[in-house]
Amino acid sequence: MTAATLEQLGAEATSCTACVLSKTRTTVVVGSGRRGAPLFVVGEAPGAAEDAAGQPFIGRSGTLLLELVDEVLGLTRSDCYIANVIKCRPPNNRPPSTAEIASCAHYLDDQLALVRSAVVVTVGNTATRAVLETKAGITSLRGSVHSSPRCTMPVVPTYHPAAALRGGPSVVAAMRADLALARPFLDGARAR
Ligand code: URA
Repeated sequence: MTAATLEQLGAEATSCTACVLSKTRTTVVVGSGRRGAPLFVVGEAPGAAEDAAGQPFIGRSGTLLLELVDEVLGLTRSDCYIANVIKCRPPNNRPPSTAEIASCAHYLDDQLALVRSAVVVTVGNTATRAVLETKAGITSLRGSVHSSPRCTMPVVPTYHPAAALRGGPSVVAAMRADLALARPFLDGARAR
């Protein structure tokens, strides 16, 4: 199940029928970016715009997230590898089930291992719980740097940008503060 390259992983994932979401998806949203991208962003699942286009975080949530990443870290989409916990859109954007998350987990594990970013940012409960293998919630996990049983990189959890779109300036301010925690790891990677 371990892919040797991102290209091989993409080919496998694109024809995946391991869970029921393969019956309703339009496209498999595998991920975007390159090996060595300094920042790895993990989201929950593709939404309608992503399902239609095959690219992660291209809707309103993604626009806000990438604006904040640019503002706080000076990175653009091309500096990021962006992937979701599950690669296919759940009908009506329902939360992914435990079984769907489990059957898709090997793709994210391979992506994390192949891309080897300097730091990982997880957005929202689903991504943070999956990467940190915890049941704790984002409100208690955000605001500090964590280590993950699933990868060797430091993990910075923050709110999902959809929560910021609903919750307004205080959530955006918290996301700015969280993203700033990733800066030393990016600076460290640049210095090497
Ligand atoms: N929300 C996510 O978590 N991921 C996307 O790709 C789009 C919206």
